[in-house]
Amino acid sequence: MMAVANAMTPTRARRKVWPCVVAALLLSLGAGLMIVRKEAGGLRNVFSRAYWAERMSGDDLFSHKSHVFKRGNRDHREICLTIDDGPHPASCAKILDILAQHDIRVTFFLVGTRIKDHPELVRRMLEEGHEVGNHTQDHLRLDSLPANQVHNEIVNCETNFHRATGQRMYLFRPPGMRFNDEVIREALAQGYVTVSWDVGAKDFTAAHAKPEEIVIRVLKQLDNGVIVLLHDTPETAEALPEILDGIENQGYRILTATEMMERLPNPVRVPTNAFRVNTR
Ligand SMILES: [Zn+2]
Repeated sequence: MMAVANAMTPTRARRKVWPCVVAALLLSLGAGLMIVRKEAGGLRNVFSRAYWAERMSGDDLFSHKSHVFKRGNRDHREICLTIDDGPHPASCAKILDILAQHDIRVTFFLVGTRIKDHPELVRRMLEEGHEVGNHTQDHLRLDSLPANQVHNEIVNCETNFHRATGQRMYLFRPPGMRFNDEVIREALAQGYVTVSWDVGAKDFTAAHAKPEEIVIRVLKQLDNGVIVLLHDTPETAEALPEILDGIENQGYRILTATEMMERLPNPVRVPTNAFRVNTR
């Protein structure tokens, strides 16, 4: 009888141990998947061969074919602030004052008709070390326009900028990030790098534009290398001091788009118009 009892004990023990081993394996698999999912920016990317091919080549940060800058270096605690659609007389000067108080340089994407109406604000941006990029002449959705109009939308904005500052622009952002192959071809032909974004403040719609909500929305999405999209509006101007304090408290440095591209694992060097202005 003893021999039978002894023979059954290890079997019982194995029966008890296996579920624990399986549970531990499943738990670590789940935890691992969560980490990879965060790293890949979503579950769909985790299982996408194309995404991991892009990660291996660095094209997830900067596309060498289309010259689209998508995000900065994941190894650096740095972010880029971009401010679109200005210059607006109701908020631009206040935004520039706040940036100067915090000693922060950002990248503005400006609309040609507004550059024409407020050239003094554009000159001030460059004088204070900010970069200015092309956000088209009339802020139309370029992917629905014929090729000649896409060409003119980019050229006319550039012309107004040159009249205001004596300089040219090197960075481009299509309104609403709506582009197709034709738009990218045109931007490349005119020597532009297209700058995307990955953290949106949603500060351009009345429903989302409460300053305290803008602050929370931006601060909770910060991560190494992200490009933040803000707009030149009075609400964003009101939110900006808290956004800058929050970014600083989380230990991030704020760089311009060209500075961030220089710090990619495969650095990309693009000329800047910051500090270059012909005052008249
Ligand atoms: Zn815009």
